[in-house]
Amino acid sequence: MAANDAAREVLDLPIRTAGINLIEHWQDPRVETIIRSPVTGEVLEVTSPKDNRSQLEVRLHTLDHDQRIILIRDVTPLNRLLTTRQDFLANISHELRSPLTVIVGYLEALQDSANIQDTEEIVARLLSPVQRMRNLVEDLLTLTRLESSPRPSIYDLEDVNVAKIIATISNEITELEGFDHDVEMAIDERTRALGIPEEIYSAINNLITNAVRYTPEGGRINIRWLKYDDACLFEVTDTGPGIATEHLQHLTERFYRVDSPRIAKSGGTGLGLAIVKHILLRHESTLRINSTLGRGSTFGFTLPSSRNAI
Ligand code: ADP
Repeated sequence: MAANDAAREVLDLPIRTAGINLIEHWQDPRVETIIRSPVTGEVLEVTSPKDNRSQLEVRLHTLDHDQRIILIRDVTPLNRLLTTRQDFLANISHELRSPLTVIVGYLEALQDSANIQDTEEIVARLLSPVQRMRNLVEDLLTLTRLESSPRPSIYDLEDVNVAKIIATISNEITELEGFDHDVEMAIDERTRALGIPEEIYSAINNLITNAVRYTPEGGRINIRWLKYDDACLFEVTDTGPGIATEHLQHLTERFYRVDSPRIAKSGGTGLGLAIVKHILLRHESTLRINSTLGRGSTFGFTLPSSRNAI
């Protein structure tokens, strides 16, 4: 048997392969069957003899009755990608199914409703699940757009008035359901950052909205925007439930949610922090999370400062 360097590496073969019997080395009956098969072009996916977490695609070509070429491809990363995609699609279907079930229920009730008052009440209730589905679709589109567009170059970044963005968002949060929070701000209006304005808006909006949604009424929210060394720092701290350490590293995964009664009724899409992570990645920044269970959380990031800063 002869093998090239790549085959030796992937199959864990010694440098001298003459005299080695591949069937004995691999010890997999399916591999034996394919090697002995007279049919050319057969393909098989098997576990690697070197590492049982790796999958190899084995393709057999018969040259003549006693000569075969076996092509081996490591398909582990491809399989991982396919599994991630399948999980993602399963999650989306699941997320869409619950509001749809509610909508169908209300529509059936609407068919049977006898008076106009019932009808009005049912139509009003339809709004919430419809809104949930719209938010989900919008967040999915945002995420796809972020993932598929190239990273902005330094020439794409603009001078962003983050203080103004924060002011706009803090006006909007007062309209959120259950808003009764004490919001404190430490904002340096002269600090301006380099970035893509709509993306910075979206990241800050997600973080501040989360702070409000997850902090019970009467809680305190602190928002900071200031110069920090050579960069600009954004931070939002809340006095909400906090997050246990084991969840922190998963929070930016799509659809990852910490299971708790308050969080279950928050009605979020589960995509907010995944969007924030992508936006920050596009700005050469990362999301920092500090949290203590029962005391609250701080979410923050830094951005390069704008040369236009005063
Ligand atoms: P969601 O739409 O569920 O809010 P996110 O991606 O924005 O999705 O957040 C992911 C999860 O992180 C939330 O479901 C929640 O469990 C947790 N989380 C986010 N922000 C906070 C916060 N300020 N306090 C406590 N938990 C939070």
